[in-house]
Amino acid sequence: MSGARRRRIGVMGGTFDPIHNGHLVAASEVAHRFKLDEVIFVPTGRPWQKDQAESKPGHRPVSPAEDRYLMTVIATASNPQFSVSRVDIERNGDTYTVDTLRDLRAILPDAELFFITGADALESILSWQNWEGLFELAHFIGVSRPGYELNATHLAQHLETLPPDTLQMLEIPALAISSTDCRERAHAGRPVWYLVPDGVVQYINKRQLYRTRRASSPGVS
Ligand code: ATP
Ligand code: MG
Repeated sequence: MSGARRRRIGVMGGTFDPIHNGHLVAASEVAHRFKLDEVIFVPTGRPWQKDQAESKPGHRPVSPAEDRYLMTVIATASNPQFSVSRVDIERNGDTYTVDTLRDLRAILPDAELFFITGADALESILSWQNWEGLFELAHFIGVSRPGYELNATHLAQHLETLPPDTLQMLEIPALAISSTDCRERAHAGRPVWYLVPDGVVQYINKRQLYRTRRASSPGVS
Protein backbone atom coordinates (compact mmCIF):
# COMPACT_ATOMS: atom_id res chain seq x y z
CA MET A 1 0.00 0.00 0.00
CA SER A 2 1.87 3.09 -1.18
CA GLY A 3 1.61 6.31 0.78
CA ALA A 4 0.04 4.53 3.76
CA ARG A 5 0.19 6.53 6.97
CA ARG A 6 2.58 5.02 9.51
CA ARG A 7 0.72 3.54 12.44
CA ARG A 8 1.13 5.66 15.54
CA ILE A 9 1.62 3.47 18.58
CA GLY A 10 1.80 4.61 22.20
CA VAL A 11 3.97 2.62 24.59
CA MET A 12 3.03 2.78 28.28
CA GLY A 13 5.71 1.08 30.34
CA GLY A 14 5.23 0.46 34.03
CA THR A 15 5.53 -1.93 36.91
CA PHE A 16 1.72 -1.92 37.15
CA ASP A 17 1.76 -3.34 40.68
CA PRO A 18 -1.19 -2.78 40.43
CA ILE A 19 -2.29 -0.90 37.29
CA HIS A 20 -4.56 2.02 38.33
CA ASN A 21 -6.78 4.66 36.78
CA GLY A 22 -3.91 7.18 36.63
CA HIS A 23 -2.16 4.92 34.11
CA LEU A 24 -5.35 4.46 32.09
CA VAL A 25 -6.20 8.18 31.96
CA ALA A 26 -2.62 8.99 30.90
CA ALA A 27 -2.80 6.48 28.03
CA SER A 28 -6.27 7.59 26.98
CA GLU A 29 -5.36 11.29 26.95
CA VAL A 30 -2.14 10.78 25.00
CA ALA A 31 -3.97 8.51 22.52
CA HIS A 32 -6.52 11.25 21.89
CA ARG A 33 -4.14 14.21 21.75
CA PHE A 34 -1.53 12.52 19.60
CA LYS A 35 -4.04 10.67 17.39
CA LEU A 36 -2.57 7.29 18.24
CA ASP A 37 -3.96 4.13 16.67
CA GLU A 38 -3.13 1.98 19.67
CA VAL A 39 -1.49 2.07 23.08
CA ILE A 40 0.56 -0.94 24.14
CA PHE A 41 0.96 -1.40 27.89
CA VAL A 42 4.24 -3.09 28.75
CA PRO A 43 4.56 -4.48 32.29
CA THR A 44 8.20 -4.59 33.34
CA GLY A 45 10.10 -7.77 34.04
CA ARG A 46 12.57 -6.77 36.72
CA PRO A 47 12.37 -3.00 37.10
CA TRP A 48 16.01 -2.03 37.71
CA GLN A 49 15.15 1.16 39.59
CA LYS A 50 12.96 -0.78 42.01
CA ASP A 51 15.49 -3.59 42.40
CA GLN A 52 18.02 -1.05 43.56
CA ALA A 53 15.73 -0.40 46.49
CA GLU A 54 16.13 -4.00 47.67
CA SER A 55 19.32 -3.06 49.44
CA LYS A 56 17.45 -0.40 51.37
CA PRO A 57 15.59 -1.12 54.59
CA GLY A 58 11.85 -1.61 54.16
CA HIS A 59 12.02 -2.68 50.54
CA ARG A 60 9.16 -4.66 49.07
CA PRO A 61 9.53 -7.27 46.37
CA VAL A 62 7.59 -6.58 43.23
CA SER A 63 4.57 -8.88 42.70
CA PRO A 64 4.99 -11.79 40.27
CA ALA A 65 5.14 -10.68 36.64
CA GLU A 66 2.20 -12.93 35.74
CA ASP A 67 -0.07 -11.21 38.29
CA ARG A 68 0.95 -7.76 37.07
CA TYR A 69 0.46 -8.85 33.45
CA LEU A 70 -3.01 -10.28 34.14
CA MET A 71 -4.14 -7.17 36.05
CA THR A 72 -2.98 -5.08 33.06
CA VAL A 73 -4.95 -7.31 30.67
CA ILE A 74 -8.06 -7.07 32.86
CA ALA A 75 -7.77 -3.28 33.12
CA THR A 76 -7.33 -2.71 29.39
CA ALA A 77 -9.57 -5.45 27.95
CA SER A 78 -12.62 -3.26 27.31
CA ASN A 79 -10.74 -0.64 25.28
CA PRO A 80 -10.22 -1.68 21.63
CA GLN A 81 -7.26 0.76 21.35
CA PHE A 82 -5.40 -0.79 24.29
CA SER A 83 -3.29 -3.94 24.25
CA VAL A 84 -0.65 -5.53 26.48
CA SER A 85 2.79 -6.79 25.49
CA ARG A 86 4.86 -9.48 27.19
CA VAL A 87 8.19 -8.34 25.70
CA ASP A 88 9.59 -7.15 29.02
CA ILE A 89 8.36 -10.00 31.19
CA GLU A 90 9.74 -12.57 28.73
CA ARG A 91 13.19 -10.98 28.49
CA ASN A 92 15.67 -12.19 31.11
CA GLY A 93 17.37 -9.76 33.43
CA ASP A 94 16.55 -6.20 34.37
CA THR A 95 14.12 -4.16 32.30
CA TYR A 96 15.59 -1.17 30.48
CA THR A 97 13.43 1.12 28.37
CA VAL A 98 15.86 0.92 25.46
CA ASP A 99 15.31 -2.86 25.23
CA THR A 100 11.53 -2.41 25.38
CA LEU A 101 11.62 0.04 22.50
CA ARG A 102 14.04 -2.06 20.43
CA ASP A 103 11.89 -5.16 20.84
CA LEU A 104 8.72 -3.28 19.89
CA ARG A 105 10.46 -1.74 16.86
CA ALA A 106 11.44 -5.23 15.72
CA ILE A 107 7.81 -6.38 16.00
CA LEU A 108 6.41 -3.15 14.49
CA PRO A 109 9.12 -1.96 12.08
CA ASP A 110 6.88 0.51 10.25
CA ALA A 111 5.21 2.09 13.27
CA GLU A 112 5.97 5.45 14.85
CA LEU A 113 6.38 4.89 18.59
CA PHE A 114 5.37 7.32 21.36
CA PHE A 115 6.73 6.42 24.78
CA ILE A 116 4.43 7.74 27.50
CA THR A 117 5.95 8.61 30.84
CA GLY A 118 4.75 10.41 33.95
CA ALA A 119 6.47 13.53 35.25
CA ASP A 120 8.22 11.55 38.00
CA ALA A 121 9.71 9.00 35.61
CA LEU A 122 10.73 11.78 33.26
CA GLU A 123 12.82 13.19 36.08
CA SER A 124 15.06 10.14 35.90
CA ILE A 125 15.29 10.20 32.11
CA LEU A 126 18.87 11.39 32.21
CA SER A 127 19.83 8.42 34.34
CA TRP A 128 18.65 6.06 31.61
CA GLN A 129 21.61 4.71 29.71
CA ASN A 130 22.10 6.07 26.19
CA TRP A 131 19.07 8.34 26.35
CA GLU A 132 20.00 9.93 23.02
CA GLY A 133 19.65 6.46 21.54
CA LEU A 134 16.23 6.25 23.18
CA PHE A 135 15.10 9.38 21.39
CA GLU A 136 16.00 7.77 18.06
CA LEU A 137 13.64 4.89 18.80
CA ALA A 138 10.55 6.82 19.88
CA HIS A 139 9.01 10.19 20.58
CA PHE A 140 8.66 10.81 24.31
CA ILE A 141 5.49 12.23 25.83
CA GLY A 142 5.78 13.46 29.41
CA VAL A 143 2.42 13.66 31.21
CA SER A 144 1.61 15.65 34.33
CA ARG A 145 1.28 13.86 37.64
CA PRO A 146 0.14 15.42 40.93
CA GLY A 147 3.09 16.10 43.22
CA TYR A 148 5.68 16.24 40.45
CA GLU A 149 6.73 19.17 38.36
CA LEU A 150 6.34 18.72 34.64
CA ASN A 151 9.21 20.53 33.05
CA ALA A 152 12.05 19.62 30.78
CA THR A 153 14.19 22.66 31.36
CA HIS A 154 16.99 20.53 32.77
CA LEU A 155 16.90 18.56 29.53
CA ALA A 156 16.77 21.64 27.33
CA GLN A 157 20.49 21.94 26.67
CA HIS A 158 20.64 18.32 25.56
CA LEU A 159 17.44 18.55 23.53
CA GLU A 160 18.53 21.58 21.54
CA THR A 161 20.31 19.36 19.06
CA LEU A 162 17.37 16.99 18.66
CA PRO A 163 14.18 17.47 16.60
CA PRO A 164 11.49 19.50 18.44
CA ASP A 165 9.07 16.58 18.63
CA THR A 166 11.59 14.44 20.52
CA LEU A 167 10.01 15.21 23.88
CA GLN A 168 6.61 16.83 24.37
CA MET A 169 4.72 17.65 27.54
CA LEU A 170 1.02 17.08 28.07
CA GLU A 171 -1.16 18.27 30.93
CA ILE A 172 -3.68 15.55 31.80
CA PRO A 173 -6.52 15.39 34.37
CA ALA A 174 -4.91 15.15 37.80
CA LEU A 175 -5.36 11.80 39.49
CA ALA A 176 -3.38 11.56 42.73
CA ILE A 177 -3.24 7.78 42.53
CA SER A 178 -0.12 5.64 42.89
CA SER A 179 0.41 1.89 42.95
CA THR A 180 2.27 2.36 46.24
CA ASP A 181 -0.85 3.86 47.84
CA CYS A 182 -3.05 1.11 46.33
CA ARG A 183 -0.76 -1.58 47.79
CA GLU A 184 -0.77 0.08 51.20
CA ARG A 185 -4.55 0.39 51.10
CA ALA A 186 -5.00 -3.25 50.13
CA HIS A 187 -2.61 -4.28 52.87
CA ALA A 188 -4.44 -2.24 55.51
CA GLY A 189 -7.90 -3.36 54.36
CA ARG A 190 -8.76 0.13 53.12
CA PRO A 191 -10.70 0.45 49.83
CA VAL A 192 -9.05 0.53 46.42
CA TRP A 193 -12.42 0.68 44.67
CA TYR A 194 -12.53 3.42 41.99
CA LEU A 195 -8.76 3.91 42.17
CA VAL A 196 -8.28 0.82 40.02
CA PRO A 197 -10.76 -0.84 37.62
CA ASP A 198 -13.33 -3.11 39.32
CA GLY A 199 -11.81 -6.25 37.81
CA VAL A 200 -8.44 -5.34 39.30
CA VAL A 201 -9.99 -4.97 42.79
CA GLN A 202 -11.45 -8.43 42.35
CA TYR A 203 -8.17 -9.88 41.11
CA ILE A 204 -6.26 -8.39 44.08
CA ASN A 205 -8.77 -10.02 46.42
CA LYS A 206 -8.80 -13.33 44.59
CA ARG A 207 -4.99 -13.64 44.61
CA GLN A 208 -4.67 -12.00 48.03
CA LEU A 209 -2.03 -9.63 46.71
CA TYR A 210 -0.39 -7.13 49.09
CA ARG A 211 -1.64 -8.99 52.18
CA THR A 212 1.79 -9.69 53.67
CA ARG A 213 3.72 -6.75 55.06
CA ARG A 214 5.54 -5.14 52.21
CA ALA A 215 6.71 -1.62 52.91
CA SER A 216 6.85 0.87 50.07
CA SER A 217 10.13 1.42 48.28
CA PRO A 218 11.48 4.68 49.67
CA GLY A 219 12.78 7.08 47.09
CA VAL A 220 11.73 4.93 44.18
CA SER A 221 8.88 5.89 41.89
P1 ATP B 1 4.71 2.91 42.24
O1 ATP B 1 4.06 3.72 43.32
O2 ATP B 1 4.85 1.45 42.55
O3 ATP B 1 5.98 3.50 41.71
P2 ATP B 1 3.21 4.12 40.10
O4 ATP B 1 1.85 4.55 40.50
O5 ATP B 1 4.29 5.18 40.02
O6 ATP B 1 3.67 2.91 41.01
P3 ATP B 1 4.35 2.86 37.80
O7 ATP B 1 4.00 1.49 37.33
O8 ATP B 1 5.62 3.07 38.54
O9 ATP B 1 3.12 3.37 38.71
O10 ATP B 1 4.25 3.93 36.62
C1 ATP B 1 4.21 3.65 35.26
C2 ATP B 1 4.14 4.97 34.50
O11 ATP B 1 2.90 5.63 34.77
C3 ATP B 1 5.24 5.97 34.90
O12 ATP B 1 5.64 6.68 33.72
C4 ATP B 1 4.52 6.90 35.85
O13 ATP B 1 5.11 8.17 35.90
C5 ATP B 1 3.12 6.95 35.24
N1 ATP B 1 2.08 7.25 36.23
C6 ATP B 1 1.76 6.51 37.31
N2 ATP B 1 0.74 7.06 38.01
C7 ATP B 1 0.40 8.19 37.35
C8 ATP B 1 -0.60 9.21 37.58
N3 ATP B 1 -1.41 9.16 38.65
N4 ATP B 1 -0.67 10.24 36.70
C9 ATP B 1 0.17 10.28 35.63
N5 ATP B 1 1.13 9.36 35.35
C10 ATP B 1 1.25 8.32 36.19
MG1 MG C 1 6.26 4.64 39.88
